[in-house]
Amino acid sequence: MRNDPAFWMPFTDNRSFKMHPRLLATAKDMHYFTPDGAKILDGTAGLWCVNAGHGRAKITEAIREQATRLDYAPTFQLGHPLAFEFADRLANILPSGLDRIFFANSGSEAVDTALKIAFAYQRAIGQGTRTRLVGRERAYHGVGFGGLSVGGLVNNRRSFVQLPGVSHLPHTLNIDEAAFSRGQPAWGAHLAEELERIVALNGAETIAAVIVEPLSGSAGVLVPPIGYLERLRAITQKHGILLIFDEVITAFGRLGAATASERLGITPDIITMAKGLTNATVPAGAVAVGRDIYDAVVDRAPPGIEFFHGYTYSGHPLACAAGLAALDVYREDKLFERALALSSYWESAIHSVSGKRHVIDIRNLGLVAAIELEPRGNAPGLRAMEVFHACFDEGLLIRVTGDVIALSPPLIIEKHQIDFIAEKIGEVLERVE
Ligand code: PLP
Repeated sequence: MRNDPAFWMPFTDNRSFKMHPRLLATAKDMHYFTPDGAKILDGTAGLWCVNAGHGRAKITEAIREQATRLDYAPTFQLGHPLAFEFADRLANILPSGLDRIFFANSGSEAVDTALKIAFAYQRAIGQGTRTRLVGRERAYHGVGFGGLSVGGLVNNRRSFVQLPGVSHLPHTLNIDEAAFSRGQPAWGAHLAEELERIVALNGAETIAAVIVEPLSGSAGVLVPPIGYLERLRAITQKHGILLIFDEVITAFGRLGAATASERLGITPDIITMAKGLTNATVPAGAVAVGRDIYDAVVDRAPPGIEFFHGYTYSGHPLACAAGLAALDVYREDKLFERALALSSYWESAIHSVSGKRHVIDIRNLGLVAAIELEPRGNAPGLRAMEVFHACFDEGLLIRVTGDVIALSPPLIIEKHQIDFIAEKIGEVLERVE
């Protein structure tokens, strides 16, 4: 890295990083390697996305082969076979009925696409007054103007204009009521009733969609209380409001099934995906919708382009090749089942950190966990950042958001590597002030 680097890094304290850079040079299976050869266990699957582990030969070979055969083809008024095949194969692993797929290139684009589809659907069925959206506090739906408007993280919102007509549900984290819950907390289902209050205040006929992450990841791992998502499903159905699950993190095995919808037994109207869609090898996003939505927007439209939306790289050949190969790897290695089978071992290991210094809560579901630390005096986030640096320097990659340590390893993790994660974090916590 040269002295005054040109790279403006995203979501990064650029000045601190550039003074003390921590670079990743190569990766294989469960590990990253730094330029000087240090081996780092990947406790976060990159950014919650390398679900099958790094450098999977089947996926990289498929990308290489596709780049040679067809590097790029537009999908506006043209097509290429792989995009159709990928959409069909993807639909096969989603909850039944969600079998129409729109491709994007990231989670943010998938979210903005889903919100536009919701508006288009409501107009198409004669419900054009439904122009409001409902998001949730502490939600992360990416950084597009749609996603940040329905999102609930103040730092991402405060500097930017937002979409009008957005209400927010309360978030569901309450450490007083539900600290150290294992799996879904028993407390909090009643918070879904806030949606009835928003409906009563605005009128159901003004609301197009509610969007939530079934499990909030980026805001610090907020696990849905038992019965909460079921209530949201019932209330949205009652009022003709679409329910969107943002599964950018939770799809592709993270919770021990293809989707959180499948694992938790609740089918929304729309699902957004990205990250594990291609095992993060090629940027890609996707939106799955039910047949009724597709039929209303597409089949019942007048002749011509039905939906004025799309990206140059929607259904990019390399993304489709990578995605198809990733689906093969997930199936052949039974990775979703593996995540489910490992989840109780994972839960016990992570909860073994509960007695360590500074720990005020631990939350988990599937192969996700959060260890929340007491913030240090008037320097929130600093303690967790010190834990992050110490773990990295001692061979473990974790992720921190504020004072929450978030963990989401590749689904190929072995038990002894789970033990290493819990032991290393426990050890570092005893040292950090
Ligand atoms: N939605 C959710 C739930 C996410 O967790 C993320 C990223 O972490 C996004 C959307 C945005 O995805 P991307 O960074 O690919 O735009």
